[in-house]
Order: sequence, then structure tokens, then C-alpha cells
Amino acid sequence: MTDVAATFTKERHIKYFLRCLKTFLPSLYTSNDSNRMLLAFFTVAGLDLLGVLLSKTTPEERQGYIEWIYHCQIPTGGFRAFTGTDFGAENRTTENEAWDPANVPSTFFALELLLILGDDLSRVKRTECLQWLPQMQRSNGSFGEVLGPGGKIEGGGDLRFCCFAAGTRYILRGNGGKDVDDIKDINVDKLAAFVQACQAYDGGMGEGPFCEAHSGHTYCAMGALSFLNRLAKDQKTPSVLSPGAREFESLVCWLVSRQTAELGGTEDSDDENSPGADEVHRLPKAAEEPSSDEEPDNLPIIPPPTGASLRYAGFNGRCNKYADTCYSFWNLATLDMMDRLDLVDATRNRQYLLGKTQHIIGGFGKGVGEPPDLLHSYFGMVALAFQGEEGLSSVDPALCISHRAVQHLQSLPWWKEGA
Ligand SMILES: [Zn+2]
Repeated sequence: MTDVAATFTKERHIKYFLRCLKTFLPSLYTSNDSNRMLLAFFTVAGLDLLGVLLSKTTPEERQGYIEWIYHCQIPTGGFRAFTGTDFGAENRTTENEAWDPANVPSTFFALELLLILGDDLSRVKRTECLQWLPQMQRSNGSFGEVLGPGGKIEGGGDLRFCCFAAGTRYILRGNGGKDVDDIKDINVDKLAAFVQACQAYDGGMGEGPFCEAHSGHTYCAMGALSFLNRLAKDQKTPSVLSPGAREFESLVCWLVSRQTAELGGTEDSDDENSPGADEVHRLPKAAEEPSSDEEPDNLPIIPPPTGASLRYAGFNGRCNKYADTCYSFWNLATLDMMDRLDLVDATRNRQYLLGKTQHIIGGFGKGVGEPPDLLHSYFGMVALAFQGEEGLSSVDPALCISHRAVQHLQSLPWWKEGA
């Protein structure tokens, strides 16, 4: 494939997201039916980012989406991820409610969707949701996904759930005030300690303490700490959010090092006539069948990078992995939260996203030549928005929604109360 010019094909992306919103999703999404709230989030948030949510949907359609989200609200607080577990409020008892539980990530995405759609959250069971949240926290400070039979915390435990719980608390607690001050809060100190304990030796954050650093979990870690820090009144800023601290600087270094010109994929490289270009893709024999007798002379010749091979540089999520569209988001969003976005090569990242993973029918694929999907399409656009791409609204890196939607939250009277 020859390179398409590096232009953001806005009209095609609008068509892609509208197709996802108004027609059936491809069959590959069937297994994700239980993640409907997340798919709805990517779709609606994508159109918001493109600035066409209000012009390409009718007020009746938007009201319909809002009603569907409220239909996913659990009477005892929080939201379910899809309607499949709902057996009707009239049939719900304390004995069977564990089979239709509120879900931590879905609650966060439901609230964000309502904000994007302009709802004032007045029908959200705010008190109940804030009472449910501490019940989801484990003794090590982390959060589960759902409350199972007997009120047992089930699932989760990694940094994703820490981020969604802290984000839900941020949205619903706001700056405090008389209606929330009496509600038992989550254990903020334990959560912050758990998150910071996930920082690995190389500066990145793993899914738990002593795990391999991973950009997705790193984003969730910094998101969680940012949410806590935004609401902290007299608390000390964590060292990983403090410029100059070893924790902060080593994380910046790790994040910046995730930018890579190793794109993977099946396409021929740009400079296919250059000497040794095909050896680059061949796995060293030693990697397949380790042998101490391996002749160093038999190892493949890996040519040094050239101007052409460095034209496109996306991001990976772990050391020695290929670039992937969504990691442009996970790494850039984290660097944005740390105010260090200027350290990456924005031009080459843009070339990668627009020239290699932007799809001809709109949307973005995971890697070179892959079909578009909702997650990579939204995250690809958000990554470009961080870099000021024309035609995209600006985005809050922790909430991962437009600043317009964040301003709507912050304008709600109860949110501002304690400010
Ligand atoms: Zn990805």
C-alpha cells in the first residue's frame, strides 16, 4: 500500500461513527454485548469530539440515548453495563440482586455519557452510588468490579478499576457540600498508596505491585491519582505527580521511550530496495530455538534506521512491542496529565496515525492495515486532539471527554457547592 497523504479525513470519521450509532455494529462485536455502555461511550464521545453530536442527531434521539442509560441504573446505586441482566425492578429482591449488579467501569462511562449528552444528572442516584462505591474497595486499597452474592467484592483489582472508581467519585462528589459530606467516603489514602505501589523499577506502572509496566495501566494509575488530587483539599501531591521527584521523572522517561518506529503489520516497508530490509522482519533464529552454540554470524542483519524508516513513529504499551493506535492515546494522555506532552515527536506520531492506521472508510484500526474498531477510532482521534489536530475538540486527559462536557459537569450547582 502506498501512503495516503497525512490528512485527517474528518467527513469519513463522521460517517464511521454515525454508522456505528445508527445501524447495527459488525458481528465481531457480538461477544461484547455485555460491554454496551462502553461501546455507547466511544460512539457518542466520538461524535462529540468531531463536533457534530448536536447537528447529526435529533433532540429526540439524544433523549432516547439518555433514557437507555437511565434504564441501566441500578435501584441501589451505580449502573449495569447492558440491559441483559435486568429482570425488572418489580422482580428485584435482596436475594437476587447480586445477579444484576452495578458495575464500576460502566458506572463511570454511564455518567460520562450523560454529561456528553447534556444531561444534568438529576436522575442519578447520587447518594446511593456514593454509598455503594466504598463497598467496592478491597482492604489493599484497590477496587473490584461488582458486588456478588453475600456482598462479596468480585472481579477487578487492577488499576483500571481504581481509575473508574476515583473518576466516579470525582464526578459525583464534586467539590463537596452538605448533601455529600455525610456520606462515608472511599479510603483515599489506601487507594493512593495502592496505585503508587504499582510503579515498576523502570518508572512505568504495572497492573499491580511488582508487575511489568504497561501504558494502559500507567494511564489508569495517573488518572486515579489526578482525580484524587483534583479534589484533595489539604493533601500532599503524590511524588509521581511532582516534577523533579524521581518517581515523576522516571515515569516521564519511560513514557517517552514508548515511541517507536517498529510498526509491525504485513505491509512492505517503505524502502523495500534498501539493503537488508527484508531481514528486519525475520525473527532471529535464536529467539525460536535458543541454543548456546548459535553462531553470531548467523544472526540477521538489522540495518540502522534511515530517514525513511523513521518517518512514522507511533507508540507501544510495553518494551519491545510494536506500535498500536490506542497507545498513542494511553501514553500521550498520561504525558498530558503530567504536562510533558512536548517531549514526544508529534509530527511522526501524526504521520503514523493518519498514514498507517486511519482507515479509508473512516475510523482507525489497531495497527497497520487493520479494519477500524470503536476503541481504536476514538483513542486515535483523542491522541490527535492532544496534538491540536484541526477539526477535533480539545479533550480532558483524565476524564477522556471533551472539555465542553467537563465544563458542563463543573457548571452543575451541586458540583460547585464546596468550591
Ligand atoms: Zn490497541
